[in-house]
Amino acid sequence: MRKKFIAGNWKMNTSRAEGIALAAAIAAKVGSSASVDVAVCPPSLYLEAIGQAIKGSAVGLGAQSCYHEAKGAFTGEISPQMLVDLGCKYVILGHSERRQIFRETNQDVNRKVLAALAAGLVPIMCVGETLAERQANQTSQVVRGQMEGSLAGLSPDQVLKTVIAYEPVWAIGTGVVATPEQAEEVHADLRKLLETRYTSEVASKIRIQYGGSVNAENAATLLGQPNIDGALVGGASLKADSFLAIISATAS
Ligand code: PEP
Repeated sequence: MRKKFIAGNWKMNTSRAEGIALAAAIAAKVGSSASVDVAVCPPSLYLEAIGQAIKGSAVGLGAQSCYHEAKGAFTGEISPQMLVDLGCKYVILGHSERRQIFRETNQDVNRKVLAALAAGLVPIMCVGETLAERQANQTSQVVRGQMEGSLAGLSPDQVLKTVIAYEPVWAIGTGVVATPEQAEEVHADLRKLLETRYTSEVASKIRIQYGGSVNAENAATLLGQPNIDGALVGGASLKADSFLAIISATAS
């Protein structure tokens, strides 16, 4: 059985005080143990403060990106080691906004995944097709290519320490959620590729989250699909009530 994993990607949102209040409200409800893994990924500048707000709870801390070098002359960047130093367990890598706005390639994401794993972080590695790619029947080819490129050179053990997030670009922040059938089809396809490329153990144990307009209303049906092991949540993770409702939906 794969333990469900709900992570909130706050993106470039909240003030410091708002972030602390949000994290504290989530931590208070989740408590010190949970049957599901939960993480919040605030803006990097607030990681330390949010880490304090969730201390003692079962809520994990995650970052939204990192650089692939440990230290040096890389103005503006943050290393995986620095994230570990602040108490991070997870780091989101290859989010479509990083791929599209900041032009990160599969090779960039691959370097970051390897560096994050070397530092002891759990990468949440995102893949997803655009609307044009889906309409051109290229979804499988695109997400398989992103996953293979972004995980290149990883051993089966390293892949097992990674979480995959399938996030169709057309569903992110749009309110247009993939149907459970659309999402399940891609998750099953990715799992098949993991079995071919690695081992059946990797394929059966790795967690694949769905992301893209997940909310309190649609979470239960998505999370009820056999190959959907959790959610990476953007907008709905910015309100404690909706994020907590998505966490609760893992039980239904
Ligand atoms: C995301 O950006 O990872 C995301 C899934 O956003 P939203 O839930 O707002 O679509």
